[in-house]
Amino acid sequence: MSQPAIPFDPSCMDEYDPNSLPVDEALRRIDAGANPISGTERVALRASLGRVLAQSVLTPIDVPLHTNSAMDGYAVSGAALRGAQPIEMRVVGTSWAGRPYAGSVAPGEAVRIMTGGVMPDGTDTVVIQERASVNGHTIGFAGDAARAGDNVRAAGEDMAAGSIVLETGSRIGPAELGMLASVGIVEVTVRRRLRVAFFSTGDELRSLGESLEPGSVYDSNRYTLFGMLTRLGAEIIDMGVVPDTRDAVQLAFGEASACADAVITSGGVSVGEADFVKETLESQGEVNFWKIAMKPGRPLAFGHVSDAVFFGLPGNPVSVMVTYYQFVQPALRRMMGERETRPPRMHVRTSVPLKKRSGRVEFQRGVLKSTPDGTMTVESTGEQGSGILSSMHAANCFIILPMENDGVGAGELVEVEPFHGVM
Ligand code: AMP
Ligand code: MG
Repeated sequence: MSQPAIPFDPSCMDEYDPNSLPVDEALRRIDAGANPISGTERVALRASLGRVLAQSVLTPIDVPLHTNSAMDGYAVSGAALRGAQPIEMRVVGTSWAGRPYAGSVAPGEAVRIMTGGVMPDGTDTVVIQERASVNGHTIGFAGDAARAGDNVRAAGEDMAAGSIVLETGSRIGPAELGMLASVGIVEVTVRRRLRVAFFSTGDELRSLGESLEPGSVYDSNRYTLFGMLTRLGAEIIDMGVVPDTRDAVQLAFGEASACADAVITSGGVSVGEADFVKETLESQGEVNFWKIAMKPGRPLAFGHVSDAVFFGLPGNPVSVMVTYYQFVQPALRRMMGERETRPPRMHVRTSVPLKKRSGRVEFQRGVLKSTPDGTMTVESTGEQGSGILSSMHAANCFIILPMENDGVGAGELVEVEPFHGVM
């Protein structure tokens, strides 16, 4: 791949590195290199929660199936409603939800109707019970107690028979389960689960249960990756900590790429790392090592190992989460066949000044808060080091500060990407 010209003027950027790749360009290349997997399966409705539809679903029925009342009251013909003069009608029966009135309704007649009750033949309007006075089998109401068509839900107004309920590429959540159930769908066709293998590299890493010597650290990246990938609905293959020997690294990449659609590693992608990861990737795959103009997450590797898409994330725990959410998750969602792959962003005012150097995009951790006037502000979680994982716990959003920005004053608008806890 040839390197495109870098589209900005370096002279005024104190952190500018002419060999670094802009975030947008990295995203574009990753998008181009991660394609939807093929393979689908039919699953029962409940089992489709969290899966991605591989076929649009059409409704075989109208929802609602019949025109029905939105209120408790009296079903009448709207033709009778004129002016404000009093109207009297004879109540000839009742339409309960699930127990319709069987007869048809003549002029001058009304049917007592409950919310969800089917509108009887000859009626098209509901006069709500609060506007009617009852006198034995007769009701009275003013001619303007309702306008023709009021308080009625038309057959098919939510979903019309034959129309698309959910498009292919939709992720099934609670609302989607309910929509599918409401049109009687018992099974759907979804993409097969995406298989994602991951492992950690680094001689200093210890798995839980092992003892820590000076200079060693527990491997936490495999746990954040486990959490993020599980929430995304991937089938995960956790390959543990891979020791930094040529044989172990080669074996791990061979096994991972043979069984997974995507392989994710953390650590060992910095310039000057003396390890076998790069050497193995050069021999087994087609992988580019990038310096991305961002913080945290500057080194990142992306490409293919055999048929699997490969992401080599930096080792620092915050960098892993930032690069995962910004680059890996959108690519995996694309591979899963999803149509929407990126969370929404918005602009809010920062209540504190934010320190920033120009020449790189920064993904700072922020806390969105609502203010007494009903708007939102964002503040920093504080110390922004890429090893401070507690900043991700404290945060509920990323604050995205663009390349050229060199600091933000209190009260200025900044772009934020809220974390969404529902996925
Ligand atoms: P690296 O990108 O390999 O140079 O690692 C950068 C920093 O992240 C070092 O301090 C590593 O000890 C730390 N690190 C690397 N991998 C992990 C991991 N799996 N869990 C926790 N920390 C890690
Ligand atoms: Mg390392």
